[in-house]
Amino acid sequence: MDILFHDVVIVGAGLAGLRAAVELAGSRDVAVLSKLHPLRSHSGAAQGGISAALGNAEEDTSLWHAYDTVKGSDYLADQRAVQVMCNDAPRAIIELEHLGVPFSRLPNGRIAQRPFGGHTRNFGEAPVQRTCYAADRTGHVCMHTLYEQSLNHGVKFYDEVQVLDLCVTDGTVNGVVAMELRSGRLLLMQARAVMFATGGYGKAWKTTSNAFANTGDGLGIVLNNGFPLQDMEFVQFHPTGLYPLGILITEAARGEGGVLRNGEGERFMERYAPTIKDLAPRDIVSRSIYEELKSGRGAGPGKDHVLLDLTGLGSDIIASRLPEIESFARVYAGIDPSREPVPVLPTCHYAMGGIPTTVNGRVIANAAGDEVPGFWAAGEAACVSVHGANRLGSNSLLDLIVFGRRCGKDIAMWLERAGAAPEVGSGVLERVRDGIDRLLGNRNGEKVPELRADLQRLMMDQVSVFRHEEGLKNAVSELMELQRRSRCLGVSDTSRQFNQELTDAIELQHMVNYSLAVARSALERRESRGAHSREDYPDRNDADFLKHFLCVMDGDGAMRLSERPVDLSLAEHNPVFVPKKRVY
Ligand SMILES: Cc1cc2nc3c(=O)[nH]c(=O)nc-3n(C[C@H](O)[C@H](O)[C@H](O)COP(=O)(O)OP(=O)(O)OC[C@H]3O[C@@H](n4cnc5c(N)ncnc54)[C@H](O)[C@@H]3O)c2cc1C
Repeated sequence: MDILFHDVVIVGAGLAGLRAAVELAGSRDVAVLSKLHPLRSHSGAAQGGISAALGNAEEDTSLWHAYDTVKGSDYLADQRAVQVMCNDAPRAIIELEHLGVPFSRLPNGRIAQRPFGGHTRNFGEAPVQRTCYAADRTGHVCMHTLYEQSLNHGVKFYDEVQVLDLCVTDGTVNGVVAMELRSGRLLLMQARAVMFATGGYGKAWKTTSNAFANTGDGLGIVLNNGFPLQDMEFVQFHPTGLYPLGILITEAARGEGGVLRNGEGERFMERYAPTIKDLAPRDIVSRSIYEELKSGRGAGPGKDHVLLDLTGLGSDIIASRLPEIESFARVYAGIDPSREPVPVLPTCHYAMGGIPTTVNGRVIANAAGDEVPGFWAAGEAACVSVHGANRLGSNSLLDLIVFGRRCGKDIAMWLERAGAAPEVGSGVLERVRDGIDRLLGNRNGEKVPELRADLQRLMMDQVSVFRHEEGLKNAVSELMELQRRSRCLGVSDTSRQFNQELTDAIELQHMVNYSLAVARSALERRESRGAHSREDYPDRNDADFLKHFLCVMDGDGAMRLSERPVDLSLAEHNPVFVPKKRVY
């Protein structure tokens, strides 16, 4: 066991973690821990772009951006947080440019922008070109730039170090316990400030665009420590996963002019969203695709998918603006997208819910809004909440850099004022050791691949795009059984170096716990809003459900729900922000 000390420990080297690290680097002793090499974080897979009302390609304003984000969220986003994000967006993009991000350009040299789902001009009139991009490799170039900047400014990286638990003394967070994967050694990292930027958690679903590492460890650890998660019922399915694998085909493909067609060749989105058609928000497009399939208008021999038609774009546009998509279509579907339509089906993509925070990234402890001293979160693991019940495409990368930076600034302020961190007690180390010993000492226990397959199948069948009471009740009781089984997991490999069977087992325990939080919150929300679509309650019900659910795990694994109000402060001054029915 090694004991190390840093002023700030950031868990996660995706864009949220790196942006916070860059803010603190130089003046503070900052460590970034990542279970992957930083450049393998899922942020590097982001394709289509990052939104900001720069107005480079046509007129645009941050107010329109905020309106689209609130409307896209089905009015569940906290409006002050949305205002903070959208107002800061143009500055944040210019800052990324100055840090070295090689954005695609317009002929006049300005940063190029393209249309994306749900982003409109003049409060919904027509799609607007708001999303900045670097071909379809936007996340990749942002990651490389921020990683270089972090190294340049002396951030200490601990690569392939997996955090297993949080140190909490008298309610104050003061460190983490982690395992160095190459040696199996445990590290106790004490810190005055801990930030979680552990990313998304789509791996609990069978078909997903998410990377293998997206197992929601940060959320699992938060639940284990009795802190809440918020808005967990809202899980976004992206309309265009490459059929049948679920690999993402970016929304930029439709932003550049691609259209969805059913098996009869009809451009069906004209019926569901007559104004912005294929560029409607993702929740609406995904549901429309399933409506087409239900009505027997799917494509292919099984009529079980639809088609993304890029043939009108021409091979030059495809090669210059969507090179990754062209390569995915060729490699994984054997298709040249300039000649043939690409088969697609919705894929689990993004989690709106997560660790609740203030607009400065401070983690919230309870429904009263009390803050957890010493603890911050940002990125997909967090819930500020700027995305509410449904995120607009290209708003996540923006969320990461805006709120990553704000965490950095707030932590710097905190370090000025706060004294030394309290001593870490021995309880957390014992808990971690016990957990590992139980897994390693139980060679004949439940097997990870079987339990994981059961979980992914259950979530895909009962807790995906369409949900209903019976399915969710069944999911909750099956998840409680999976939770029981996950405590009896056994690991047959007892080696210490890169013991993937062990880390898989630990990750699976987190997956089961947050999945139960998802199903439990979804059961409680007896309405349809954004990505949460209840067949038995098809309408939105603001009178009873315009609120956030917080979910806390009891010692026996059961989930307890409480409520927080939605911040509607913009609506008090501007009627466009007052909740109303969404029409596109
Ligand atoms: C294929 C794809 C394309 C996308 N395209 C876009 C897009 O074009 N525009 C957009 O706005 N959004 C897009 N998104 C969404 C966006 O990319 C993600 O929401 C975002 O990258 C998440 O960033 P993050 O910093 O929160 O976490 P990530 O980038 O996922 O990083 C998580 C980090 O946490 C670390 N970590 C996790 N658990 C542990 C642990 N236990 N111990 C130590 N380290 C840990 C990982 O090693 C990693 O470094 C896309 C998502 C996907 C999957």
